[in-house]
Amino acid sequence: MSDPVRSLLAHSPQELEERVVALGGRPFHARIARRELLTNGVLDYAAMTGLPGSLREALAAAVPLLSTREVTRTTARDRTVKLLLALPPRDSREATVETVYIPPHEPTSPPPEGTATPKGATLCVSSQAGCPVGCPFCASGLAGLARNLDAHEIVEQYVAGRAVGPIARSVVMGIGEPLLNFEALRAALEVVHDEMGLGARKVTVSTVGFPDRLARAARSKPRFQLAISLHTPDDDQRDELVPAMAGTPIDAVLAAGDDWFAVTGREVTYEYVLLGGVNDGTGHADRLVRRLAGRRCTVNLIPYNPTEGLPYARPESGAPEAFRARLAESGIVATVRWSRGLDSAAACGQLRLRAGGVTTN
Ligand code: SF4
Repeated sequence: MSDPVRSLLAHSPQELEERVVALGGRPFHARIARRELLTNGVLDYAAMTGLPGSLREALAAAVPLLSTREVTRTTARDRTVKLLLALPPRDSREATVETVYIPPHEPTSPPPEGTATPKGATLCVSSQAGCPVGCPFCASGLAGLARNLDAHEIVEQYVAGRAVGPIARSVVMGIGEPLLNFEALRAALEVVHDEMGLGARKVTVSTVGFPDRLARAARSKPRFQLAISLHTPDDDQRDELVPAMAGTPIDAVLAAGDDWFAVTGREVTYEYVLLGGVNDGTGHADRLVRRLAGRRCTVNLIPYNPTEGLPYARPESGAPEAFRARLAESGIVATVRWSRGLDSAAACGQLRLRAGGVTTN
């Protein structure tokens, strides 16, 4: 029996057919409604002209098109749009997630060597409401986990983002740890790839790299690209910077990345937030070189953007480039991601700051 408050995407295709038939339509009308929303981006039943008028009215009354609701929309100086979406209350608890639309860069001058400038808009989505990982430099992690998102709530972020503009690629680097809600994410990405037309290689999922979960994910025929947030070459420091992984040696994380490459044939990107005076010294760069020696991978270096109330600073000017150069000398492909939108999104906890207009570079 269908719950009358479930949104269209909260129904499986089979359930939606049953619901549509119960409302007086034919089974194929369910496929039309789903296609209008997912493929054509139609956000109003009234505009779904392939459906009979009576069915449009019945659906509008009985099946909300979306379960998430836009609460606020903030447009930064660089045109990045941050959407705050309210999820349906569960157990009387409200929760929100952030989804960020990052338009392509409009360069005013040639980018410095080693600086990436993405082409086409990128959508950054969240996999959980809140985050249980607790990285001390990240505002998202401070309050802990509110709840996991359902698959359709993840898909609805793509629907909301596409309503802002076309999406060329996506990063699952918003709030949350994707591997801790992997089944929902995997189901959502199937819809995004197959029904919304965003190519599988255009989606990157960023994780802190739980080895056992990564091993299972690698064997689930994943279609996305993988990024692992490493943040330091030192075990004791990683225990502090990524508390949920305390006790898991960096070697185990790197071995899981190697296993991912062996199983999927796709290289891993390692993400490294450069925290001023904490993990951005030459010693850190040297030790990272030793950690990554012999591995086919790339490194994204993300200069930290200070967060009010958190005791971390931006790296000194020149430190990110020096760090990158040290990796490059040793043959490790590294990029400093600090120009804007997407680049700030490369570290999940960093995204919200710049999307809110705090961009400094
Ligand atoms: S940086 Fe990412 S993994 Fe760490 S607490 Fe923030 S959202 Fe979670």
